[in-house]
Amino acid sequence: MKYIDEFRNGDYAAEVARRIHAEADPERRYRFMEFCGGHTHTLFRYGIPDLLPANVKMIHGPGCPVCVLPMARIDAAIELAVRHQVVLCSYGDMLRVPGAHRTSLQKAKSQGADVRMLYSPADALRIALENPQRQVVFFAIGFETTTPPTAAVLLKAQELKLRNFSVFCNHVLTPPAITGILEPAQQAGERIIEGLVGPGHVSVITGGGAYDSLARRYRTPIVIAGFEPLDILHSILLLVRQCNAGRYDVENQYSRAVTASGNAKAQSMAARTMTLRDSFEWRGLGWMPHSALRIRPEFADYDAERRFELSPSEARENKACECPAVLRGAKAPTDCKLFATVCTPDNPIGACMVSSEGACAAHYSYGHTR
Ligand code: SF4
Repeated sequence: MKYIDEFRNGDYAAEVARRIHAEADPERRYRFMEFCGGHTHTLFRYGIPDLLPANVKMIHGPGCPVCVLPMARIDAAIELAVRHQVVLCSYGDMLRVPGAHRTSLQKAKSQGADVRMLYSPADALRIALENPQRQVVFFAIGFETTTPPTAAVLLKAQELKLRNFSVFCNHVLTPPAITGILEPAQQAGERIIEGLVGPGHVSVITGGGAYDSLARRYRTPIVIAGFEPLDILHSILLLVRQCNAGRYDVENQYSRAVTASGNAKAQSMAARTMTLRDSFEWRGLGWMPHSALRIRPEFADYDAERRFELSPSEARENKACECPAVLRGAKAPTDCKLFATVCTPDNPIGACMVSSEGACAAHYSYGHTR
């Protein structure tokens, strides 16, 4: 299959791995963060860390939209479903993420709340049209990749003048998250990574140019990568070469899908319907300025945060769960004492074990247990 088979070719992979071994300087270390959970999944699925020299290490980043959402936002979604008795619609993984006191949307559903799993925001709009007597809320999450479909349903709801549909907006932005990881280290005069494997799907929307200033400011090479095993290996080779040459450019390994300027139509839809929040809390990275989107005042009728009164939540993480450190790349999943003992995909304690893009779930699924 075009774009699949050739990017999974074992002979090519062995050759790229051989080049990485040949070109990586044994006297230096190369710590590369893969920002995106999809890349983490590919790394483990294909055993890529085992192909790398000992001094080339991959560190998992925060690019899993389910994992970075703080408990307070999960609690707010549960409150919408239980106290406000709306039809609460979201993607499957969100239903299993524990909120405060080990509740979840799935548990709320088992106790009678009307919580529905869907694959597209358009399904939430359809449910609203079919149930004019019920308030329907779409629990929107995700990075720049999932923002345009949410924007599309906001525009459609306004066009249809729907009165029973709104969006609980939790869309977050990639460049501020990269800043949130690299800025504290720079302030402390430390270097925590030598390079970044940049997100693929996000960059289809934003374009590779979104990272130029970050690469320069933090003197960190960035290679935007596709999701097949050869994409990742090739990107690691490009990062090794940039490090050896003392360069910190943005390179686009995923040129079959990503351009410099991205998808202008998708960017325009998002800009028409959403605007920057002053600040937003991320699990693991804390409150970060201008790191997420809210619905524009012109679409206030479709903003669940304006339509429904939501209680402030003081929810805090399970003290033993190391998700915040895992999401910053400061710890590996296996550093958590709950990993694969108390915390498993069937009984997730933290968000990183819920989504298949979460670092803990990827470690667990592919047998990296201790
Ligand atoms: Fe949190 Fe579970 Fe991962 Fe530990 S193993 S960091 S408890 S998600």
